[in-house]
Amino acid sequence: MALTPDAPPVSVGVLREHDADERRVTLVPEVVGRLVREGFAVVVERGAGEAAFFPDAAYEAAGATLGDRSAALAADVLACVRVPDAGLALSLHRGQVVVGLLALGGHADQADALTDAGVVALDLALLPRTLSRAQTMDALTSQASVAGYRATIVAAEAFGRFFPMMITAAGTAKPAQVLVLGTGVAGLQAIGTARRLGAQVTGYDIRPSSADEVRSLGATFLRLTSSPEGAGEGGYARELTDDERAAQQTELAGHVAKFDVVITTAQVPGRRPPVLVTAETVAAMRPGSVVVDLGASDLGGNVEGSVPDERVVTPGGVTVVGAGNLASELPTAASSAYARNVAAVLRAAVRDGRLDVDVDDDVIRAIRVPAATSNPAPAEEARA
Ligand code: NAD
Repeated sequence: MALTPDAPPVSVGVLREHDADERRVTLVPEVVGRLVREGFAVVVERGAGEAAFFPDAAYEAAGATLGDRSAALAADVLACVRVPDAGLALSLHRGQVVVGLLALGGHADQADALTDAGVVALDLALLPRTLSRAQTMDALTSQASVAGYRATIVAAEAFGRFFPMMITAAGTAKPAQVLVLGTGVAGLQAIGTARRLGAQVTGYDIRPSSADEVRSLGATFLRLTSSPEGAGEGGYARELTDDERAAQQTELAGHVAKFDVVITTAQVPGRRPPVLVTAETVAAMRPGSVVVDLGASDLGGNVEGSVPDERVVTPGGVTVVGAGNLASELPTAASSAYARNVAAVLRAAVRDGRLDVDVDDDVIRAIRVPAATSNPAPAEEARA
């Protein structure tokens, strides 16, 4: 949405992410250029894009102002990738807006600090993804897609053999057998990437609708006889009962040991990631096998014994990669997609040339924290 020429420009601050392991940046120069042409003023903390290979000079050429951290912090909107630490809220002022993949539901201290400071957050983790208007803002999807691709690359790098079948004068190598557990956005991208590398791929999910999506990528769908119907609200999976989970783990164990590479991506919104692969199942895998657990986090993961951001080789020679934040490992692509998502949110939060987070817009209303008092009803499709 173009800003009106006579209104002061809405300023957007881009910080260097505070977590040393986070290589993504919120806005990339190409998107900054577009926002500036539309009438926004963009202030970038020096070095903010360095880890994603976007130099300061590229931001300057796109029309941004480069400054120190305090200059970026003074902007009307602070755009970030992950939630700023609670201390940063002390540097913000009442009425300021923070937009990002904040996941405030899991970060109570930061959420309280922002609310106490009178700051309004636009949390992309709350985006109602089924609204077609929201698709350009869907950072969960753009980042899961990058992570799924990267998971396969990480697995291929850790695997001691080829992914494709290789016929050479020195003999024939069989293609790798890859199993992807959880075939949402990340899982389907992992399947597609493994197929392009020439592996033989199988996918499994508890949502029955995912079977056709798996097959459409040229992979086989694994059907468990014990598998419960696991579709939940809004296209997501539901949490299984203890009995269902035990039956699933037991039956999966019989399949997992036959695969060379297992990539797990299963999530249930607002719950701990389900354990799909037990330590016993990992112990039964062949030496040289690789497991990449995309669900690994401080809350646990899909694989018993996986450690977030660490690569563990078991006594049985199985490499278990706890892949917490794979999108950050492909920072240029992840940032480019994320920047487009954030720019779409910024446009939706501007009315008549002014920032307006009380705007009667179903997407903004769904991602606004705290909820707008003037219109407290959240959008029906919003995730809890
Ligand atoms: P997600 O990250 O919440 O979960 C990943 C996958 O894990 C899901 O496919 C889920 O079914 C699966 N899973 C959960 N528990 C499991 C278990 N015990 N065993 C096996 N698999 C399990 O999911 P997501 O990638 O965010 O996608 C969720 C849904 O949202 C999908 O139906 C997807 O197509 C849909 N979606 C729609 C849009 C849109 O309409 N624009 C955008 C993004 C995603």
